[in-house]
Order: sequence, then C-alpha cells, then structure tokens
Amino acid sequence: MDLAKKVDFLEYNVIRKNWQRSKLKIVLCYPNVYKAGMTGLTVQQLYYLFNLDDEVLCERCFLAEPLRTIESGAELRDFDVIAFTLQYEEDYVNMVKMLLDAGINPMAEKRSQADPVIIAGGQAVSANPLPVSKIVDCVFVGELEPCLSDLLEILKSKMSKRRKVEEMSNLKSVYRYGKERVERCLALDLDQAPHILAQLTTASADAFIDPLFANAFCLEVSRSCNRRCRFCLVSWTNGPLRYRSLGKIKGLLDEGLSRSKANRVVLIGTGIFDVPWFKDVCAEVLSRNLGLSIPSLRPDVVDDELLEFIKKGGQKTIALGVESLSKADRAFLGKAYDDEALENVVEMAVDKGLTEIKFYLITCLPKEDMENSFQLFNKILKIIAKSRATLHISMNPLIPKAHTPFQWLSPPKPNMIKESYRRYFKLFKGPKVRFEVLNPHRAVFQAVLSLGDERLAFRLVKLAELRLRSWATMTRLMPEVFLKPGEKAPWDVIDVGCDKRVVARSFEEAMKSLEDRRPPNL
Ligand code: SF4
Repeated sequence: MDLAKKVDFLEYNVIRKNWQRSKLKIVLCYPNVYKAGMTGLTVQQLYYLFNLDDEVLCERCFLAEPLRTIESGAELRDFDVIAFTLQYEEDYVNMVKMLLDAGINPMAEKRSQADPVIIAGGQAVSANPLPVSKIVDCVFVGELEPCLSDLLEILKSKMSKRRKVEEMSNLKSVYRYGKERVERCLALDLDQAPHILAQLTTASADAFIDPLFANAFCLEVSRSCNRRCRFCLVSWTNGPLRYRSLGKIKGLLDEGLSRSKANRVVLIGTGIFDVPWFKDVCAEVLSRNLGLSIPSLRPDVVDDELLEFIKKGGQKTIALGVESLSKADRAFLGKAYDDEALENVVEMAVDKGLTEIKFYLITCLPKEDMENSFQLFNKILKIIAKSRATLHISMNPLIPKAHTPFQWLSPPKPNMIKESYRRYFKLFKGPKVRFEVLNPHRAVFQAVLSLGDERLAFRLVKLAELRLRSWATMTRLMPEVFLKPGEKAPWDVIDVGCDKRVVARSFEEAMKSLEDRRPPNL
C-alpha cells in the first residue's frame, strides 16, 4: 500500500473538494517525509488557508514513492499550481527531486505554458530566495495571510501562465529572479489571522507515519521574537514578536478541541515566553484537563511556576535554548544570561521530577571558551547525578544565516566542525549524558544554501539528478560561499523590515566582545 492510501485511511479532518467544481487546483508540497511535514502547524495551516476559498481545491503531497497527493492520489501535473513550503534549506534538493519525479523540468525557463505555476514560500526562502529563484516561477516572501486573496485572484484568473507569473511578481511580497526590491508580508494582528481549527490528526500506531504530537491540538500563540540573538533567523527576518489575545486563544481552544480528538495542546511560538499571558494560557489548557506541551525556552525565563505547568501537563522533558555553557560565548551569540540562571533551572527541573533536560548548544564560535563550558557542565552534571533525570545535549555548529549579524562570518568547514565535536565528546560524557551532533557536512550544506545565490540552482538540479544520499558527497559538489564584512549581500533585495545598520552594529559588537579574549586552551 502506498503512503497516500495508508495515510488517507488513517487521518481525521481531511478536506476533500470536488475537482470539477473547483476553479483553481493547488498541490501543497512538503519536500520531505509525511511525518516531518505533519509535525507542527505549517503544512496544516497552509492547507487550511488555501482551502478556505470555496473556489480553490488544495491537496497535500509529501516526498514519497509513488508521488501522489494524500487526498485523491492525483499527480503533481494534474494541478494548476504547485506550492512548495520550504522551511529548511536542505529541503531544496528534495523539491527538485519531486519535480523530476513528477516529470516536470526543474528549471523555470525550460518549462512551457502548459506546465503548472510553481511557487515557493517559507522561512528559508523568505530570508534568501536566490538559490531557488531559477527553479520556481515565484517566491512568496513572508507570511501568507494578508496577501493570500491577491495571490489567489491572480491564480484563479483566466490569464495565461506567463501573465499570471508577471502579475504575481508585481505584488510587493513576491520575488521573481531579477526583481530589485521585495517587502516581506507580515500579519501584524494575529487575532485577525485565520487559525486552523479542524486539525488533521492521525490514528495510526505506525511510528513511520505518525507525526510528533499526533493526537494534539496545535495552538499558535505567537510569532517571532524580539530578543535578537545574533544567530536567530526568525528574530531578524520575521519580527516583531506578535501574539494572540487571551480571549482569542480561549475561543480557539473552545472550537478547536470540539472539532478534533485531541487530548493534548501543543503551544507554538518562538518568543512565547515573552507573551504577557503565556502562563495564563498554560493554566487555561490545564483547567480543561488536557496535556500540555511547550516549545524550547530560554533558560532565564523559566521559573518554578512554569515548571509546575510543564509537570502537570504531563511533559517529562524540558528543552532549553542554552546555546553555550560559557557566559562569554553567550555574550558573543547575543544571548546573555548568567550561569546561575541555568543551574537554577536544572535544579528546579529535577526537583519537579522531570526526567530529561535537553540543551541545545552551538559550537564553532571564534575563540570558543571551552574551559568555562566544561566547568559549568560539571556543575550541572552534579545536579543531574543526584536525580532520576538525564541530560540530553544536542549540538550544532554556528551556521551563518542571511540577514542576521552572523551573515558576515565564514561558514565552518567540515574538518573544523569534526574537531570541535571531538573535543566536546571528550568533555561532555557521563552515564546520564546523551550527546548528539548535527552531521558536519549537513551543517555546511545548510550554510551554503543559506548564503548562496541563483548560481546554486544548477547544482541543486545536479544533486537531485544524481540521487545522492551522502551529505559529504553533496557538500563536496557545492561551492564555498561567504560574505566579506561590509559587503552587500545578494539577499539585500529582500526587505525584512530590519535596519541594515542595526545588523551591522550588532556584528561589530559581537566581534568587539572577542577582543579581550585569550585564545582557547583546551
Ligand atoms: S530568545 Fe530564542 S527565539 Fe528569541 S531571538 Fe533568541 S534564539 Fe531566537
């Protein structure tokens, strides 16, 4: 049985529309596996938004064989529009693979008027659409809600495909190769933004298919974050922080929970900890006798009350965006807080009986301070040792992203990443420690696509044609890319609403913070 048939059989709240009566048919493609795409809200929300229009039929397609939509088993070619959601750079190759598998030429200029219109959107391409700009016809930059009706009006019209693409690229938030300025689209008032209520849930016990939180209602509380940590793409490209009112949130819970079989609420929002009623939202969910899951948090915002909510909500793990165990490195990263804050959170979390403490850490920083990291690690290990908890460390190298102050840092090289990991593997060990790292080549691959331009399109097609699976081989076939300090970036054509001087000043401050540091001695 193929994926489409299997999933279709198991999902609740699938939207099915009449093909004959629908004026515009869109296939929403997530260029990765079903499980990844259906974890979280992005695919669900886009599916809902497109289908809100009675004249539009939208079905979902994931990276699978055969390549068919979940709803009707149709092929990509059967649709008027192919819409890719690209949240992560490494999915760009999968996007090309999907086009090749659908028998569609992956280069926009080689496609005919009879081919579907291909658009892309999402976090990764909204920051830098250049690498995919010769593959798709248009890239939508930012959040779709405020611009959706303009986009659909063009796509529903009787104009030729060429005219539609031209008209779309006249919209201020749509990028087409060669356009000189695009303004990201932002939903300023989240209370006015539609939120999917009848969410898709699966009833399978199949770990291959089941998304994380399969039986949960995902509630988007906030978007973006105002803290401006220097590595954080969301904060620099999608600000400011916006959030729904408490009244709206209660209304969404009332209706959303009545329309699904959810027994848990997953709160969604990067800067959720800065929402003034964050704890009220937690209390509201618990008052309804539901499980509660919250996203990863800054260590310095966690207090006893929040941990109590987490515990009562049945969450056994707390995930913390620690970034570094050295205070100096945290200052460089733009996420300053004291070591004591982290020790206190770990202490409180184990006292509450949480069984897993997860740290996200970043390495490959200039003049990285391993000495102090190791000292704090040992203090934390002592706290963990007295408890039932385990410490789970997930480490990535610093990957420079477009529009962030670190866009001017050189991406790390695989050998440098491996060397850094090797040193931490020696230090971060213990029976209650689980230490995992991002594949070094995969990290470099992400960095190249984050900072690349339109010349990468041919490489992406080559990689997809070769069906390579090894990150090391794929990375070897990519060029080295980097931006020199002060140099104008290709992605400067995208106005993400952030003053370039602020970005440059933040980079200068970061570099200045390194000046008094002695070189690493571990
Ligand atoms: S606190 Fe978290 S979400 Fe906010 S800017 Fe920093 S890393 Fe990003």
